[in-house]
Amino acid sequence: MISSNVNGTGSINWSEIYNRQKKKLQENFKDPVQINPNAIFANNETSLSEIDIYGFDYDYTLACYKPELHYLIFKLGQEALIQKYGYPSELINIEYCPDFAVRGCHYDVRKGLLLKLDSFHNIQLGTVYRGTKALSDEAVKTLYGGIHVSLEDMNTFYGTGPMYQLVDLFAPPEMTLLCNLTDFFMENGIPYDPEYVFHDVRSAVQGVHTSGLLHSQILADLETYLDKDSGTSDLLESLVSQGKQLFLITNSGFPFVDAGMKFLIGNHWRDLFEVIITKARKPKFFNESKRPFRIYDPQTNSESYDRVLKLSKGKIYQQGNYYMLQDMTGWYGFNVLYFGDHVYSDLADPSLKHGWRTGAIIPELEREIIRSNCLEYQQAVKWLNILQNLIENAQMDTTQDTTEIRQSWLDERKEIRNYTKSLFNAQFGSIFRTYHNPTYFSRRLARFADLYMSNVRNLLNYPIEHTFYPRRMELPHEPHV
Ligand SMILES: [Mg+2]
Repeated sequence: MISSNVNGTGSINWSEIYNRQKKKLQENFKDPVQINPNAIFANNETSLSEIDIYGFDYDYTLACYKPELHYLIFKLGQEALIQKYGYPSELINIEYCPDFAVRGCHYDVRKGLLLKLDSFHNIQLGTVYRGTKALSDEAVKTLYGGIHVSLEDMNTFYGTGPMYQLVDLFAPPEMTLLCNLTDFFMENGIPYDPEYVFHDVRSAVQGVHTSGLLHSQILADLETYLDKDSGTSDLLESLVSQGKQLFLITNSGFPFVDAGMKFLIGNHWRDLFEVIITKARKPKFFNESKRPFRIYDPQTNSESYDRVLKLSKGKIYQQGNYYMLQDMTGWYGFNVLYFGDHVYSDLADPSLKHGWRTGAIIPELEREIIRSNCLEYQQAVKWLNILQNLIENAQMDTTQDTTEIRQSWLDERKEIRNYTKSLFNAQFGSIFRTYHNPTYFSRRLARFADLYMSNVRNLLNYPIEHTFYPRRMELPHEPHV
């Protein structure tokens, strides 16, 4: 492109190239590419013909929850903060805003900021919030001495730093509550330590789960919280009818799972599974060999004291570990495909340590695909790429000073990037990408999940022998063909 000589005077007329390319795009790009929101996407080639055993997590995998669940988690978290942690009673008046946060953001407990990181640990500017108020790019760069966050500052497998990722099913209401609380303290001039507030909110919200309160409220109104039309029943019946073996590994207790599965599938649901493991303590289930299985008796709500030497169909097991499961069943490696919604505790160890094939359930995917299927989004992305090429090429032009024109293009680029971000979520954008990189969440999803999809029922759209092929990723040095 840099060799173009548009005005015939020896120098390149960049404005004319810009206008010509923009007109061409507007005239020619009218049919957006349509991606099926109910498709399955492959990070790694996966052939279902090799899969004999299908494993499932329960919550948010077989059990699809309706949006009402986040309202409930928020409300119970609010009540717990007031009643158990002594927070001001006025907090109860705050209503849950479902559109504020997205899963996978990080919270810096020392600085009290919610933000989004990319796969290089860079902060995405424009996604840093104290409470529900955005910080300017300059303020962020001053606070972090740039935009990079050191590995040592992450609270992950590698370290115990101040940067926590909120990625489980409680994340959106938990993040929103945290930010509402921060607003409350700031607006009322109440001094607070963000680290205490974070741990109090975390304990309150997680406590709603561990105390059994959340489960009891869900059980009291399954119609409101569980999506009965999610297709789970059809999928499981279909797999069994085609000779596949099924197993369940969930951290939830049997009475909760049993009520949900009876509601979703019917009283015969246990007949579909070869092995049912509850209270599994994932991710420890996959990486510790200490806890043996125990048999759970639903009649007496008690566990056996006998040593479990084999796993039998029809029985309910609790705890246990991966190594005993493999020894007792002979299931391992490429014959097993396990589905879960928690990219770390469900999928990381099965994939990295044990060689299972893995499928991630990412409910947000459906909405994001629908958004990215629109003409406005695709036109904006296409123009962004053209504009970026123009910016890159113009800076190589030594025949004239292109500083001014490039600055106006850089401003336009910033505007378009903010527009494409806001189509997914006004504050944080897509859970899968920052402006130009995959997110921290997305990079891990690509590493731990062979397949990913919005709902496990999407499997019904494919033949049982189907092979999923990943899109060939063009490396930056390879020719664009
Ligand atoms: Mg789950």
